[in-house]
Amino acid sequence: MAGILFIISAPSGSGKSTLVSELRKQVGGVDFAVSWTTRAPRGSEQNGNEYHFTTRETFLQMVEEGKFLEHAEVFGNLYGTARASLDEARVAGHDLLLDIDVQGALQVRSKLPEAVSIFVMPPTPKVLRTRLRNRSRAEGVVNESELYRRLHEASKEIENYREYSYILVNDILDRAIAQLEAIVLAERFYRNGEAIAYRSRRVLEVAAACLQQNSQERIKPVLEAFGILGSSGQQALPFGDDADDD
Ligand code: ADP
Ligand code: 5GP
Repeated sequence: MAGILFIISAPSGSGKSTLVSELRKQVGGVDFAVSWTTRAPRGSEQNGNEYHFTTRETFLQMVEEGKFLEHAEVFGNLYGTARASLDEARVAGHDLLLDIDVQGALQVRSKLPEAVSIFVMPPTPKVLRTRLRNRSRAEGVVNESELYRRLHEASKEIENYREYSYILVNDILDRAIAQLEAIVLAERFYRNGEAIAYRSRRVLEVAAACLQQNSQERIKPVLEAFGILGSSGQQALPFGDDADDD
């Protein structure tokens, strides 16, 4: 494709959709690949907007027909990126952003190794729980078992952070948005020689600081909080009932 392919992954509730929508308000020329899914619409979600909602039967038919660049089962539902999304971005000469899980990211990177991958981490399990719960409340459906399923999956997903080029910790929203924007502008600068005006040096510094190899100190407390990097080598218990977050 002419533009750059950005892959963004994160545990559910980390703020990935929020970051993507803010990025697209601030940076032009970035298309968002609307995925196909067999899960039911949530809250105010509209068909064709957040997702193309479909049946399992139609989804599997599309798999048979080779319509997906990648597809995966997440939380019992099927999700996939249509090849057509890449074609449309290519024709428009735009960058394309995929919001996909770690399994999908692996498939895309093996087919398109030039893709730029970004992993978003929530700062702590407690914050993640609060965000998931607040979102469910805003959507008028609080499903505790679904919430805990997503929380427990979070650690497993975060373990895959090493597969990604850039790491964002979505603690302070404005900072995370600025970091995401910097990554997009820096990649355009390095790959396409696109000018990034007077802010260029600062933008390049911000993006470089988010490279995985430069993020170790920043992400260490997050990994510890999620029980991935225990000083004793023992798995921590980050989802106990101790946190009084609501
Ligand atoms: P995801 O797309 O990763 O599942 P969302 O973007 O839906 O997550 O965010 C989950 C919830 O957290 C939403 O209610 C959103 O408004 C909120 N949120 C996202 N980022 C932040 C942040 N940095 N600080 C506080 N709340 C946030
Ligand atoms: P949600 O149901 O919360 O919108 O998304 C659940 C998970 O599915 C998230 O990790 C999200 O990134 C992932 N996802 C969304 N679309 C796709 C897709 O097209 N392919 C894959 N592999 N994962 C997706």
